[in-house]
Amino acid sequence: MVPKTADAVIIGAGVIGASIAYHLARHGIRPLVFEKSDPAAGSSGACDGLVFLQSKKPGLHLKLALESRRRFDGLADQLGSSIEFRNPGGMCLIESEAEISAMQLFVAEQRKSGLDVELIDGDEARRREPCLSAKVIAATYSPLDSQVNPYALTFALLRAAKSAGARILSGVEVNGIEVVSGKATGVFTGNRRISAPVVVNATGALAAEIGRMAGLEIPITPRRGQIIVTAAVPPLLRHCLISARYVAVKFKPELAASGGMGFSLEQADSGNILIGSTREFVGFDRRTTFDGIRTIASRIAPVIPALKRVPVIRTFGGLRPYTPDGLPILGKVAELEGFIMAAGHEGDGIALSAITGELIADLITTGRTQFPLEAFRLERFRAGAA
Ligand SMILES: Cc1cc2nc3c(=O)[nH]c(=O)nc-3n(C[C@H](O)[C@H](O)[C@H](O)COP(=O)(O)OP(=O)(O)OC[C@H]3O[C@@H](n4cnc5c(N)ncnc54)[C@H](O)[C@@H]3O)c2cc1C
Repeated sequence: MVPKTADAVIIGAGVIGASIAYHLARHGIRPLVFEKSDPAAGSSGACDGLVFLQSKKPGLHLKLALESRRRFDGLADQLGSSIEFRNPGGMCLIESEAEISAMQLFVAEQRKSGLDVELIDGDEARRREPCLSAKVIAATYSPLDSQVNPYALTFALLRAAKSAGARILSGVEVNGIEVVSGKATGVFTGNRRISAPVVVNATGALAAEIGRMAGLEIPITPRRGQIIVTAAVPPLLRHCLISARYVAVKFKPELAASGGMGFSLEQADSGNILIGSTREFVGFDRRTTFDGIRTIASRIAPVIPALKRVPVIRTFGGLRPYTPDGLPILGKVAELEGFIMAAGHEGDGIALSAITGELIADLITTGRTQFPLEAFRLERFRAGAA
C-alpha cells in the first residue's frame, strides 16, 4: 500500500537516491523512495565502479570527490554488507608527448586541491603494472583511486536505509509534483497523491522530466557510455586504469567526435574486466553499437596486449546524467521551496554517492551542510548567473 504522507519523498532508487535514503533514515527521518522500475535499473546498474579521483576537475569537483572517497573507508562495515570496495590505487596512462605536458599541468592543479598524485615514467608504470605495453610512455599515479561494485553498493545502501525506517516502493512511477503557492508539497503516482514537506529529485539522466512536472528547467541530458565485459580471468590488473585521453574527453566533448576517445579499466572481484567507455549524445538510446565497441577494443588492445586473448562475454550501454559544466546539481531550488536536487553526476555518481547522500540529508534535517553547496545549485545555469 502506498502511504498518503511521508517525512520526505525521494524520486529514484539509483545510487544517489539510495544514499540519500540511507543518510536520512540514520537521522530518524523515514523517507519514501519511489522507483519506477527496479533499484539500480538506471545508470547505477549500467556503469563501471571506479571511485577515481584523478579524473575529477581540480578545485571543487575534486574536493567533493576526496570527501566522498574518505567516506568509502568503513562504509561496508557501516552498511553491514559487502560492497566489493577495494583500494588498489589508480593510474592515468599517457601515450603521447602532448598528453605529458597536459597531465603535468593537471597534476600540479590536482595537488593544489589536496590529491596525493605523482607523474611516473613508462618503465616505472610497467614495473607497477606489468601488463602495460611500451605504448605507455608515462602515467600519473594516485594511491587513493579505488573501485566498488555499483549494484552491491546501491542495494546495500537501500537495505540499510530500510532497516533504519525508509520505505522503498519499486515499480511506482512519479508522474506529477504537487506545487502549492510556490512550494512542493508532494508527488502524484497515477491518481494517488502523497504529501511530503520535502521532495528530492534523484532521477539521474531523467531529472529534467521531473523538473518539467514542477515547472523547472533542469539542464541534465543523457550521455551514453558503452562498456565491454570480459570473462572472469585470474588477476591481470593491479590498479584501476584510465587513459589520459579519457580525462581530456570528459571535459572537452569535441575530442570524442575527432576520434580521441580514451578508455577505463577495472577488474572486478569476480575476475571479470570492465573496459569502458564511449561518451556520446544519442538521447535515451542505451543500445551498444558495433562501432562503439570496436573503438574501445581497438584502443585498449595495443596498450594491454594480454587482453587480446581474453574472451568478451557481453557488452552494455548506460546513460550518464550530463550537465553543461560537468558538476552535479545539488541542493535547494530558489524557485520552489521544498524541492531538492540531487542529480547530474555524469560519470562520477558512484564515486560521489557517499558524500551526496550525507550532504542532502544534512541539508534536509539541519538546513546546513559541512561542504558548501552554493556552487552546485541549479541557479548557476540561470541567465545572468556568474
Ligand atoms: C558507461 C558508464 C560508466 C560509468 N562509470 C562510472 C564510474 O566508473 N564511476 C562513477 O562514479 N560513475 C560512473 N558512471 C556514472 C554513474 O553511473 C552515474 O553518475 C550514477 O549511476 C547516477 O546515479 P543516479 O542515482 O543519479 O541515477 P540512476 O542510477 O539513473 O537512478 C535514477 C533512478 O530514477 C528512476 N526514475 C526516473 N524517473 C522516475 C520517476 N518518474 N519515478 C520514479 N523513479 C524514476 C530510474 O528508474 C532510476 O532507477 C558511469 C556511467 C556510465 C553510463
